[in-house]
Amino acid sequence: MRKKEFSLIFVPTTSCNSSCAYCFQQKKKKESMTLDNYEQAVLRLAQYLRIKGTEKLNFYWQGGEVMLLGVGYIKSAIKIQEKIGRETGIEFKNRLQTNLLLYDSSWTSVIKESFGGVLGSSLDFPNLYRRAPEISIEKYPLMWLEKYKLASGDGIRVNAISIPNRRSFKIGPKAFLDYYRKDLGIQSIQLNFAFPFSAGGRLRKEMENSLEELNNFIKDLFLYYLEVRKDHHFEISPFENILSSFRDRGIKQRPCIFSRVCAENFMALGPDGSCALCDCWLEGGEKFRFGNLIKEEPEVLFENTFRKRIFKRLDKILNEDCYDCPFLQMCFGGCPVRTYSFYGDIFHKDFYCPVYLTMFRIAAERA
Ligand code: SF4
Ligand code: SF4
Ligand code: SF4
Repeated sequence: MRKKEFSLIFVPTTSCNSSCAYCFQQKKKKESMTLDNYEQAVLRLAQYLRIKGTEKLNFYWQGGEVMLLGVGYIKSAIKIQEKIGRETGIEFKNRLQTNLLLYDSSWTSVIKESFGGVLGSSLDFPNLYRRAPEISIEKYPLMWLEKYKLASGDGIRVNAISIPNRRSFKIGPKAFLDYYRKDLGIQSIQLNFAFPFSAGGRLRKEMENSLEELNNFIKDLFLYYLEVRKDHHFEISPFENILSSFRDRGIKQRPCIFSRVCAENFMALGPDGSCALCDCWLEGGEKFRFGNLIKEEPEVLFENTFRKRIFKRLDKILNEDCYDCPFLQMCFGGCPVRTYSFYGDIFHKDFYCPVYLTMFRIAAERA
């Protein structure tokens, strides 16, 4: 039987060596969690979850930039997890997301031993928004590629996280996919859909106005992916997750955007102990916070009013926006933060509903 799991998106630092135009953490105070506070917070959470029947805690390390903390910090944090695991009976599984810019071979052993030899790293194609203070938008992909080759040479698998943008729509799905698959030799891409949580002005307008283009792009990309995926060891999320849900009647690895209620199984922990639904909400201020895991008991966080509103969202959209959707059991109305970012409240279906419908229809026909 599958173990009962919970996922913690851990933001140990909000410091970053990049300065991407669409980063929702840019305005945030730069701080990092001490190892003492980390031990206190993780022990509290593990004890609480164990009592509630959780057996496995998926730990998603995200920033800011985690590698700024150094290899020593990560090794100590993993040792603390092992100790807490022995005390509580919780199994920990760690995954790491990094911009890769600080990668060198001193990271190889800890990534192999503690992160299964796999990293997630963002690279959009073409690059429009990712940059660092000393690295221009044009040079950023070259720097990334250099580090990607170094990590791959060390036997690390790097999965790309990509947000399609207006230039991706222009070059089209074949050039987009072939860049990752043929030029870089990447085996896995996770597609993300942008949202303007703290972005304003031009970027917000661009996201709002590009829905139709994105929808057409995703349709053609999915069809091209279906052509090439059979002959290659290569996969795109969420296409593969959706295909498997039609084939096997149930999404095995459900991306959080298609969770029944993501708050059931997800929470983010920030460097000052603040907790929210996920990293996106941590930036949004007190009204979205569940509480503070260093200062408060976990019960308080799990009973938080805003967390309860996320559960109420499902009731509302089941009876209204998504009432007659044939794919309701696959999608459950999509992502609350994308909904909130575009509409200013959570009680609607996700802004990207037309894109999700496109993917579900293709998968229903082709799976
Ligand atoms: S790498 Fe991530 S955290 Fe850093 S600036 Fe870019 S989007 Fe923000
Ligand atoms: S709000 Fe959206 S991104 Fe955050 S955990 Fe829920 S589904 Fe995922
Ligand atoms: S595809 Fe659209 S209508 Fe269907 S459940 Fe998702 S958000 Fe609702």
